Amino acid sequence: DNMRIPFIAGNWKMNLSVAESVEFLSAISGKLPVADQSQTAIAASPLFLQTMLEHNDDSPLIIAAENCFYEDEGAYTGETSPKALHEMGITHVILGHSERRKYFNETDDIINKKVHAVFRNQMIPIICCDETMGRRESSERISWVVSQVTAALKGISIEDARNAIIAYEPSWAIGSGQTASSEEAEEGCYLIRQTIADIYSDEVANEVRVLYGGSVNDDNANEILSQNDIDGVLAGGASLKPESFLKLANFQQ
Ligand code: PEP
Repeated sequence: DNMRIPFIAGNWKMNLSVAESVEFLSAISGKLPVADQSQTAIAASPLFLQTMLEHNDDSPLIIAAENCFYEDEGAYTGETSPKALHEMGITHVILGHSERRKYFNETDDIINKKVHAVFRNQMIPIICCDETMGRRESSERISWVVSQVTAALKGISIEDARNAIIAYEPSWAIGSGQTASSEEAEEGCYLIRQTIADIYSDEVANEVRVLYGGSVNDDNANEILSQNDIDGVLAGGASLKPESFLKLANFQQ
């Protein structure tokens, strides 16, 4: 598993301002690990991306999008084109975040179309897999996680699947301060990896990076990141301040 370079991602959601995003970049400048040691990313609103790219200079930080539409262009008022994201220089897009599923009615089918659109435009999707508290406590848990991963990757080739990043993000742990225990987080990530092995092969499963997300902070990150099947984290709250993001980015393995 040493081949899987850790991936530490922040998700700003609809927070900060364009000016604050620039301040953030200057505060972390020169303080990130080198890219062959660990990859770091911040996902931000499409309103911020051009400015952030312009202020990112030689930094290894990946500037990512939080969402995009599944068509490249056309009469889709207000949507974000994956083709335009790629044109700007964006390389990674979060898809299927639980907030998208919950507030914007994104279904597995829509998310699958978006995964196709992101790969079609030579970018990498960070696919989020949700788990509600009700399901955590029921026997449906396993089939729920398996079905989301399976649906998101429907029709995706092996070559693309290898590059996918998948995040296990129990929604009961998002923004709640209630982190999954490291065992529970490992269990979810292991399940995702097994699902990839079932759909593709063990070889692909060994390459795909699986992240944990849900109230990750600098106190719990090391333990979470030391689990076998957890290759990185997706952090919301902890990514908003340069100091706390830097602590995550420079975790000790
Ligand atoms: C998220 O939104 O992806 C997330 C994990 O948020 P938080 O870290 O704030 O729980």
